[in-house]
Amino acid sequence: MSKTVTIVGAGLVGSLLSIYLAKRGYKIDVFERRPDMRKIKMSAGKSINLALSDRGWKGLEGVGIAEEIKKIAIPMYGRYIHNKDGSTAYQPYGKYDQAIYSVSRAEINMRLVDLAEQQPNVKIHFNERCTTINRENIEMHFENAETKQSSSVKSDILFGSDGAFAASRLNMQLTTDRFEYNQHYIEAGYKELIIPPGPNGEFLIEKNALHIWPRGTFMMIALPNLDGDFTCTLFLPFDGEKSFASLKTKEQVASFFKAEFPDALPLMPTLLNDFMNNPASALVTVKCYPWTFDNKIALIGDAAHAIVPFFGQGMNCGFEDCVVLNDLINRHKEDWNKILPEYQQLRKPDADAIADMAIMNFIEMRDKTADPKFLLQKKIEARFNQKHPDKWIPLYSMVTYSPHIRYSVALREGQKQEAIMQKIMAMPDIENKWDSVDAEREMLKYLEALS
Ligand SMILES: Cc1cc2nc3c(=O)[nH]c(=O)nc-3n(C[C@H](O)[C@H](O)[C@H](O)COP(=O)(O)OP(=O)(O)OC[C@H]3O[C@@H](n4cnc5c(N)ncnc54)[C@H](O)[C@@H]3O)c2cc1C
Repeated sequence: MSKTVTIVGAGLVGSLLSIYLAKRGYKIDVFERRPDMRKIKMSAGKSINLALSDRGWKGLEGVGIAEEIKKIAIPMYGRYIHNKDGSTAYQPYGKYDQAIYSVSRAEINMRLVDLAEQQPNVKIHFNERCTTINRENIEMHFENAETKQSSSVKSDILFGSDGAFAASRLNMQLTTDRFEYNQHYIEAGYKELIIPPGPNGEFLIEKNALHIWPRGTFMMIALPNLDGDFTCTLFLPFDGEKSFASLKTKEQVASFFKAEFPDALPLMPTLLNDFMNNPASALVTVKCYPWTFDNKIALIGDAAHAIVPFFGQGMNCGFEDCVVLNDLINRHKEDWNKILPEYQQLRKPDADAIADMAIMNFIEMRDKTADPKFLLQKKIEARFNQKHPDKWIPLYSMVTYSPHIRYSVALREGQKQEAIMQKIMAMPDIENKWDSVDAEREMLKYLEALS
């Protein structure tokens, strides 16, 4: 008889996981707190856009659905920087046609739910909120959001993929001795805004780029949507001089945008209403351990490791969880007593690494992308990478385009590279000698010393 699996949460990771396990013959029930998104209109200001990159694509390819998702994704080949004085600069992300892809979170979630439901052995139950879990017999309790009726279900294996504020995790926390838990809110939050399409449905700024307005302690970004508009996200401290707290009236918002984002303001006709109506949401990092319990229950995706969005990796990392898990199921021939311990042992260091890199990248995006010294450093690294691809892959490329490199390895290599670059950037007249034989020789020397 095939094993039964319950998945709590039909978000991005839960839906993909259900497809992976269904294809292996498990009987899957997915319980989702919200109503079926395909049947309701999304509320304004909630249409987050995500950058999908190679780790995510690998996760989708693993069950043969990458091509389906490509239909709703727009490639972005570089960063398009908007300076305060109105000047712009384009920075390619990687080599040639390397891109990250803009997808609407709602859109990709609905596609994944569709694809999951196409599996004959997957059943998704909407409006069912997980309340408690009985660990002894793997029994989950749910409350229906419409009828308020309670129900329960038992299964052989349980996955909690119910996001950053997971009920499944809380249940495990309350029943596990020495459960480690850490949550950290950064000082900034985010608000979704919009640049609509032009009169003929055209994109009003470069379509195939991720736009950034870096402003030191805050920034705005914009990602393209299929229908010609851009979802803008303003990342701003909650408190302080330039903050959500200081922008209370439409007049304050208008003058803030006029001073800070002068080129974007004319493209945002609904800005003032959007700003007033859309929530400012918090950004949290969650680290916890263990992720697996009694070799029958496991956390996955944001439930195990919520991270801030500045490396564009939360979903990608969750999809990679599914790939790793699937490889382990193969390797251990469905022996869950071996699969789950190894899953958490492999993934925990990688999730911690990308959580830390995501925090570091906030500073890079909001601050350094406009700094000529930083840009010079990136230029030197790119050149060195071209000449010595076997010796140097820039950190961004390791994380974004190199799914064979673990996040924890990328972090370690990135720290080594940064130490070398500090020395190179301190070389006299580096602005003019950046592509010199001297600089290259120094980099090789430092690399050798650190290897
Ligand atoms: C502003 C922002 C930008 C981001 N940008 C990127 C990006 O560019 N690239 C990237 O890779 N990632 C990005 N992320 C992260 C990404 O959105 C998450 O990592 C991803 O959604 C995690 O998927 P998940 O399935 O684990 O959790 P979720 O997508 O949060 O899904 C969890 C699901 O569980 C359901 N649920 C919750 N509680 C219960 C319960 N008690 N019972 C039943 N169901 C429940 C929820 O309704 C939800 O459907 C971004 C996040 C934010 C906030």
